[in-house]
Amino acid sequence: MKLFSDSLPFFKANFHCHTLNSDGRLSPEECVNFYQSAGYRILAVTDHRTVTSPPPSDGMLFLPGIEIDYVLPGQWVHILGIGMEGSIGRQWDPSGTPQEGIDLICSLGGIAVLAHPAWSLNTPAFMRSLSGLSGVEIWNSVSTLPMNADRADSSSLLDVTWASGGQLLPVYANDDSHPYRTEAGVAATMVQAEELTVPAVMDALKQGHFYATTGPLIKQIEITNRREILVRCSPAEAVIFYSDAPWSAGRAVIESGMTECSYFIGKNDHFVRVEVRDAAGRKAWSSPVKV
Ligand SMILES: [Zn+2]
Ligand SMILES: [Zn+2]
Repeated sequence: MKLFSDSLPFFKANFHCHTLNSDGRLSPEECVNFYQSAGYRILAVTDHRTVTSPPPSDGMLFLPGIEIDYVLPGQWVHILGIGMEGSIGRQWDPSGTPQEGIDLICSLGGIAVLAHPAWSLNTPAFMRSLSGLSGVEIWNSVSTLPMNADRADSSSLLDVTWASGGQLLPVYANDDSHPYRTEAGVAATMVQAEELTVPAVMDALKQGHFYATTGPLIKQIEITNRREILVRCSPAEAVIFYSDAPWSAGRAVIESGMTECSYFIGKNDHFVRVEVRDAAGRKAWSSPVKV
């Protein structure tokens, strides 16, 4: 089984950024120009509680976006809505529950993505209680220094959630750009779609045809019927096969400049996700796969 097509292109995307319409520093037009010049082809502007429609731009596909938010005891909840048809802003009830927000996004044809769970202090029990999510941010660029404490990477929290029975969700890496300083242009979600159109990209997102990265490229992940996982990637220093088993033989493959490696699924692994690290310490994350 191959996770990706060998022939379809990947498009560089950011599904989380803010403009002057909420608490971002750039206008919608400046935001689009920034991401276009940084090589992105898909953008969702996700202002807090409002949908921003950026001006048309050659070569850039826009998906409607919003970020809705809730404060619960001991944690905050931020949820991205992407690709909705219709005006979610007027229908969303800030005094409702996160599940109602997810259900509203889905009822409008959008997908709901849980944003920055480590930053929000989301608990595994809370995340297990949600249904209808299409993904979760494993990386959120603004959630680290100098803008925030160092909680950009939610991977350990997600492993705990998944190991304790949480739904395996496809993972996103998004910038969550606000000041457009060191956080902007760091992360990308690489989407493999038939073409650069809204229906094709929404279909790819619903099917999980993407991976998350702050630099390295994942070219292919294949699971053979010998229970071996083969990875092809851009030159890496380490490839790590994380699972719900605290220990597994051979899960950390370390070799300078490798572009291929493999791992035999351990008998205690019930899901596996792949993390690729390059010489600069940047990472790429696959979504978790049930094995
Ligand atoms: Zn947020
Ligand atoms: Zn945000």
